[in-house]
Amino acid sequence: MELFTQPKDLANFSQHIRQEHKKTLALVPTMGALHKGHLSLIQKAKAMCENVIVSIFVNPTQFGANEDFSKYPRKLEADLEICKSAGVDAVFAPDASSMYGENEMGIIAPKNLSSVFEGAIRVGHFDGVCQIVLKLFSLANPTHAFFGQKDAQQLIIIEQMVRSLFLPISIVACPIIRDSSGLALSSRNAYLDEPSIKTALKISQAIYEASKVIAQGIFDATSIKQASLKKLQEETPVPLEVEYLALVNRYTLKEIPTLEVGKSLLLVAARVSKVRLLDNLWI
Ligand code: AMP
Repeated sequence: MELFTQPKDLANFSQHIRQEHKKTLALVPTMGALHKGHLSLIQKAKAMCENVIVSIFVNPTQFGANEDFSKYPRKLEADLEICKSAGVDAVFAPDASSMYGENEMGIIAPKNLSSVFEGAIRVGHFDGVCQIVLKLFSLANPTHAFFGQKDAQQLIIIEQMVRSLFLPISIVACPIIRDSSGLALSSRNAYLDEPSIKTALKISQAIYEASKVIAQGIFDATSIKQASLKKLQEETPVPLEVEYLALVNRYTLKEIPTLEVGKSLLLVAARVSKVRLLDNLWI
């Protein structure tokens, strides 16, 4: 497995694969501290493409001033082992100074999609996401790029960016991976102690409650959200603060009064012990 830290080395590697071998090339962008959620993206990439690049980069431009950039978990050695065992061809793990310079080019994510939900709480977050993903696309020149449905809004914005800029890249959406108790895997789960994990379980349980209501054929947003909210309002070891709970159209992110199968998304974000946790259901 190759390890690149310099943008030009990644660009040369991918140019070699694309031009000389004319092979399919997957990019799996991550911020590292890899877990089974990331691994599922890598495995799907391996199954669909001949070559796989994983990027590991804690991107400063997508963190707000009061967010966890400096304490975000960094585990490069362990991550490299995971990538190697998974059969990844190359890891790109640059430092910030090689990805960003003076007079940096700003990118603005589509306003309607990026100013709501996560974007309303983390102002500028999706501009930073689009900026780094576009840089990674430009360097890795992949045929396919893999993103988790766990970060639903991010996936929807990246899909829109690819459409808007006519980028010749297939975006592959990968399902949410959960632990045995239902908790959606996240690098940020490392911040949670035992009582917080118990509390956080209410979030996936709330998603499950919604799916049960939907399975009964109840499609109105109020009933679906009420089922989730009831779970989120149960007593917990530590406080759980719901930031948003919404049923939206999965292309526009606009709230909808009635679920439309194949087009809907239930979004939930909650704060447990200062840690923001996301979960969602694609219906
Ligand atoms: P991150 O390292 O958190 O930026 O995540 C890198 C990629 O992995 C993103 O596309 C995430 O949506 C995806 N991802 C993170 N956690 C999960 C999960 N539990 N299941 C599926 N995909 C995930």
